[in-house]
Amino acid sequence: MDLKSVLSLVEVENVEYVDFRIVDLLGRQHHVTIPAYAVDEDTFTNGVAFDGSSLIGYKGIEESDMVALPDPSSAFLDPFVEAKTLNIVCNIYNPDGTPYARDPRGIALKAEAYLEQLGIATSAYFGPESEFFLFDHVRYASGPTGSFFHIDSEEAYWNTGKEGKNLGYKVANKGGYFPVQPTDSQADIRNEMCSLLTQAGLKVERHHHEVATAGQGEINFRFDTLTRTADNLLLFKYIVRNVAAKHGKTATFMPKPIVGDNGSGMHVHQSLFQGDTPLFYEKGGYANLSEMALHYIGGILYHAPALIALTNPSTNSFKRLVPGYEAPVNLVFSKGNRSAAVRIPVAAVTPKASRIEFRTPDSTANPYLAFAAMLMAGLDGIKRKLDPRELGYGPLDKNIYDLSPAEKTDIKSAPGSLSEALTALENDSDFLLEGDVFIREVIDAWIERKRSEIQQVERTVNPKEYELYYDL
Ligand code: GLU
Ligand code: MG
Ligand code: MG
Repeated sequence: MDLKSVLSLVEVENVEYVDFRIVDLLGRQHHVTIPAYAVDEDTFTNGVAFDGSSLIGYKGIEESDMVALPDPSSAFLDPFVEAKTLNIVCNIYNPDGTPYARDPRGIALKAEAYLEQLGIATSAYFGPESEFFLFDHVRYASGPTGSFFHIDSEEAYWNTGKEGKNLGYKVANKGGYFPVQPTDSQADIRNEMCSLLTQAGLKVERHHHEVATAGQGEINFRFDTLTRTADNLLLFKYIVRNVAAKHGKTATFMPKPIVGDNGSGMHVHQSLFQGDTPLFYEKGGYANLSEMALHYIGGILYHAPALIALTNPSTNSFKRLVPGYEAPVNLVFSKGNRSAAVRIPVAAVTPKASRIEFRTPDSTANPYLAFAAMLMAGLDGIKRKLDPRELGYGPLDKNIYDLSPAEKTDIKSAPGSLSEALTALENDSDFLLEGDVFIREVIDAWIERKRSEIQQVERTVNPKEYELYYDL
């Protein structure tokens, strides 16, 4: 949608409010709402002023005046607000009209511009598969002995064996993938999410229940270019959360909400194109991959420890990255193998659909920063011709979880904690700074914020500590 069509949509649809959306460093959206009668062409040229001081990762209060400049191509009608409202994603500028260097969307746009500037490809496509859980209620409570976390969900009861409703036959934990209704009690709600996603302009490809029995779902929408896909992902999370709320449920994208069951990943499919020509396909090689695709994989795996500080940026992320739950732990590539960090899908793949799937990320990532960082790692691999086979990253087509310790000695592992990943990022960030895509200030702000999260978690009493130590 261009500016003209946005303004005519406001007229034709009798839009009452325009909602300007801003993303903070962590990837959370914020908004400023303006009555539609006060919005005109000037709003799109001059932007909307807002106070950036209370956004995480933005400026301090001494220099907090910021400008949000709406990108008309991101407009969509909000299905959850009573008064007819048009939502628009914004880029952030300083009051002097220069782009704000910490704006995550600005960094994603710069990564795309850098790709073009290098002349390696004209477009990078991203397709995230963001898994989630739907729970009836999530309660946080503080007891006399500290704080604890309690999930009060009909489906969670199924797994924990607590007294819940007697619904007869129950699939055992991890005992099913997509059994039909009534076992899959969330099919209607996912249908509703998909209808609203389609109305908002996303192309929904499929939805299904995921492996975890405690109400895990997945909805896939079609890939698109880097920044557009990051916009789409935030729109997707917004719709999933709001439909859940309408049904008295909460949706969570946290990577490991249930101990002992599968977690939620955000596998990211990626490919490069020159115009209409797919650059990752070459018939005959391993998984029909081109040299360029192999080098891209080389870059992703080589930089993975640092990259993971941006693609898996929560303490909870590392509770998902453990063996046995289809989440990758090892830094290898493989066709079809879901235990590898990089999988090459081979079923029903045409040259145009030829792509790599990086399986490590999860949805606690800021998609603008995470996609930009993945592209930068892949491009570094292409520029330096990093061959993943020579660097010891596979290919490995066995189930890595089943290998003996001796067979595993040469396999490199993903960082085991957020702290390790942040240290890796501290030691390996030059690839992100190429072409001034990321700036040092953003990386430093990220590391500082994430280290403070680690400290908050470490200082909080954990339910497991009661089990281990309460009566010791
Ligand atoms: N839930 C798994 C993960 O944590 C992935 C399952 C799948 O292959 O889709 O990555
Ligand atoms: Mg899945
Ligand atoms: Mg996948």
